[in-house]
Amino acid sequence: MRGDTFVRSLDDGRKIWLEGTQITNLPEHPAFKGTLDTIRQLFNMLDDPSVQQIVGYQVGQSDRYSHSSFLVPYTGEQLAQRSRSFARWSQETHGMMSRLSDYARSIVTGWYAAREELGTLDPHFADKITRYYEEARDQDRFLTTAIIDPQIDRSKNLDDARIADRFLHVVRENSEGIVVSGAKMIATGAPYTHDFIISSFLKFDASNRNHAHVLIVPANSPGLHIVCRETFASANERNHPLSSKYDEMDAVLFFDEVLVPWERVLLYGDAQKVLTLRGNRTANALAFHQNIVRYVAKLEFVTGVAFAVAESIGAQGFLHVQEKLGELLTQVEVIKALVIASETQAKPDASGVLVPELSYIDTARNIGTKFYPRALEILQQVGGGGFVQAPSGVEDFYGPLSELMHKYFEGASVSAEKKVQLFKLAWDLIGSPLGARHELYERFYAGDPVRGYANQYAAFEKERLTDPIWDLLKRTSKEGKTLV
Ligand SMILES: Cc1cc2nc3c(=O)[nH]c(=O)nc-3n(C[C@H](O)[C@H](O)[C@H](O)COP(=O)(O)OP(=O)(O)OC[C@H]3O[C@@H](n4cnc5c(N)ncnc54)[C@H](O)[C@@H]3O)c2cc1C
Repeated sequence: MRGDTFVRSLDDGRKIWLEGTQITNLPEHPAFKGTLDTIRQLFNMLDDPSVQQIVGYQVGQSDRYSHSSFLVPYTGEQLAQRSRSFARWSQETHGMMSRLSDYARSIVTGWYAAREELGTLDPHFADKITRYYEEARDQDRFLTTAIIDPQIDRSKNLDDARIADRFLHVVRENSEGIVVSGAKMIATGAPYTHDFIISSFLKFDASNRNHAHVLIVPANSPGLHIVCRETFASANERNHPLSSKYDEMDAVLFFDEVLVPWERVLLYGDAQKVLTLRGNRTANALAFHQNIVRYVAKLEFVTGVAFAVAESIGAQGFLHVQEKLGELLTQVEVIKALVIASETQAKPDASGVLVPELSYIDTARNIGTKFYPRALEILQQVGGGGFVQAPSGVEDFYGPLSELMHKYFEGASVSAEKKVQLFKLAWDLIGSPLGARHELYERFYAGDPVRGYANQYAAFEKERLTDPIWDLLKRTSKEGKTLV
C-alpha cells in the first residue's frame, strides 16, 4: 500500500533534530509514530477502491489514482472533485491536520496550470514547473511550505547586516545551482515532507538580489537541518485522543550552505518577480481553497464536541448555552457558505483554469482567525470546571475506586466513563499543548492577521462603495449646476 511506501521513503538521510538529538528512526519515535500512522492511512486511501475516487483522480488513461490536489480544474465538476478530496482528508483528521501536503501541492498545481502566464517571469519557468509537477504527482511527493524569515528583529530590514545574514540568501552560484544559507520559519509537517517550497517573504529592494528566490528544496539536501519544536504528541490515546495522532510538528529550517540545483530554482535574483509569482491568483486561489474546506471540518468538530459536552451535563436547555451553541453553528455556516460562494463564483483564468473566487476565500481566512479562539472560549464556557474535574485517566475506572468513580462522574445522559472520555477529548482541544498550538495556528497560519485584513482593504475596488456616497452628497445649485 502507498502509505507504507511513503513512510519508508522518509528514511532518506534527512537531518531531523529534537531535544538536541538527531532522529534516526522516525516511524518508531514516540514524537512522530502516531502522526505517521495517521498519514499512512490517508495515503492508503488512494489504493482503496471504496474511497480512491473521492480523494484521488486518474491521470490520463492510467489506472493509478493521484491525489486530487494535483488536479487542474477546468470544469465545475473538477473543482468539486478537489473540494471533496480536501473535505474527506479533513474529516478523517477532524480538521486538526492542516498541512497534509494538499495545500502545498495545490500551489505547485496552480503554478503549473498558470505556467504560460508565469513563463514571462523566466524563460525556464514553464519547463521546470512542468517537470516538477509531474514528478510530484506521479511519485506522491509530500510537500510543505516555509515562507517566513526568522523572527529576530522585525523592526530591521536587510540593511542590517545581522538580518541579511540570518535571512535565507545565496552565498554563491556555480554550474550546478545556487548555494544558500540562512533560516526559514515555520515549516509545519517538516519531518514528513519530501520537498519544501521556499520563498522570500518581504518586499525586498531590487538590490537585494541574493535574498530574492523561489525554490524547491528536498528535505534530505546535505546541509539542511530540520529543527523541531517540543513534541506535543502523546502515547496515551485514551487520555489524549488528538495529541496521540495529530501532532503535525512545526520546525525551523537551518540552511548551512545547501546546494539547490538549477532545476529546482524557480526564480532567483529579482524581488519583483518573486512577488508576482507569490501573488499569482490561480495558485493562491487553488491553495487557499483547501484551507477553508479544511476549516469547515475543524469548526464542525469543535461544535460537535461542544454540543456533546452540553448534553452530557444537562446544560443544553439553558438559554445562554443555546445562544453560544448557536453561535458555533453560525461559524460553521459562514465558512461553509464562503466555500460554496468561492466555488459557484469561480471564473476561468487566461488559460481556462477554473479559479475559485479569491475574495470569498480571503474573507473566510481573515474571519477564521477570530472564529477559532472564540469557539474554544465557548467550549470552556459550556463545560465549566468539568474539564479539570475529570480524573487523571480512564484507568481509574478499573482501580479500587471503580464503584465510586462510576457513581460520581456520571453524566446527565451518558455513563461516567463516556463522560470522562468526552471531557478528555475536549481538554485536548482547549487545554493541552496541542490544543494551544492549534489556537495559535488558526490565528497565524495564513500570515499576520493584521496585514491579512489590511490587504483585503487595500485590494478592494473602493470606488464601488465610495462613489454612491459622493453621488449622494453632490450639491446642486438653483440653476441645476453640480457644485461638488
Ligand atoms: C503553528 C503555526 C504553523 C505555521 N506553519 C507554517 C508553514 O507551514 N509554512 C509557513 O510558511 N508558515 C507557517 N506559519 C508561519 C506563519 O505564516 C507566520 O507565523 C505568520 O506569517 C506571522 O509571522 P510571524 O510569526 O513571523 O509574526 P511577526 O510577523 O513577527 O509578527 C509578530 C507581531 O508583530 C507585528 N508585526 C511584525 N511586523 C510587522 C509589520 N511590518 N507591520 C505591522 N506589524 C508587524 C505583527 O502584527 C504581530 O503582532 C505557521 C505559524 C504558526 C503559528
